[in-house]
Amino acid sequence: MKACVFHGPGDIRVESLPEPHPGPGELVLRMEATGLCYSDIRVYKGEKKARIGVIPGHENVGVIEEIGEGTEGFQKGQRVALCPIIACGRCFYCRRGLRNRCPERVTLGYEENGGLAQYLRVPASIVSLGHVFPVPEGLPSDVATLTEPLACVLNSLETCRVSPGGSLLLLGAGPMGLLHLLLARALGAGTIIVSELNEERLEHAVRLGASAAVNSRRDDLQPVVLDATGGLGVDSVVVTTGVPSLLEPALAAVRRQGTVSLFGGFPAGSTVALDPNAVHYNEITITGSQNATPDQYRRALQLLTVMPQAAEINTHRFRIDEGRKAYESRLGMDGLKSLVIF
Ligand SMILES: [Zn+2]
Ligand SMILES: [Zn+2]
Repeated sequence: MKACVFHGPGDIRVESLPEPHPGPGELVLRMEATGLCYSDIRVYKGEKKARIGVIPGHENVGVIEEIGEGTEGFQKGQRVALCPIIACGRCFYCRRGLRNRCPERVTLGYEENGGLAQYLRVPASIVSLGHVFPVPEGLPSDVATLTEPLACVLNSLETCRVSPGGSLLLLGAGPMGLLHLLLARALGAGTIIVSELNEERLEHAVRLGASAAVNSRRDDLQPVVLDATGGLGVDSVVVTTGVPSLLEPALAAVRRQGTVSLFGGFPAGSTVALDPNAVHYNEITITGSQNATPDQYRRALQLLTVMPQAAEINTHRFRIDEGRKAYESRLGMDGLKSLVIF
């Protein structure tokens, strides 16, 4: 089979590898579509770790091709999306359903082989943890690859307690920022302000329903926030990109007792200066979110069926032979999100 293999930063090669077969308790998927996200690019740039020799790809949708001995509850030909997390299932966090916080967690596409290949062996632990989700009929596979990013966004919006009719500021309108926008709208947020430097991404934000879009290079964000919220500030702010200096405008825009959530991963070793009184007197919650629980994956997949505009996030499609090009298109910040379609 053809697969992308990670040989180190800047070095992704398309290679011919033997097709995998399922061991006991496992599945093998014939891949339909695999999404690339900024975490994959961070690995490519050497900012995030992955095992040398791994097949990347953690946003996976495929059809069950082979079923291992003793694997129950699945049928050949069934289309599934995966939560790529392998967790211990026994620790403090796993017992609370927080498998994304398991200290022993490993992830498909980073430590274990992922879906940038024609076939993917789904490890028994993923199957037994219930991390294999049938894709609802009628939901296209390319859209279903958004299950993983949307689950992360659902975790983010639940962490910052976005409420129906409430207000939200999104700093950054990349694919994840725009998914925050679409999901916040689906969840009934009233006012959604988007701030971004890239004009094309701001246009996407307006088209996808932002109440206000601010080019922070050109316009002052603060008056827009105050105007849109009757002088209060927003209920919550999500920093969707890993730019540490954005904590400052986030704290300036949030209302008293509001929440600032740090969503995107920051460069290792980042530090920020912070006025502790701004947090103290205004009773601000500063929080973060990373990945999602299996329950959030399950709900994200259902949410995609009522979020038709999510399809517009996938702007670039490649074949597996063009794996390297798929990475390069992301590095160039071309459009929004790249997919490999099989
Ligand atoms: Zn992702
Ligand atoms: Zn655990």
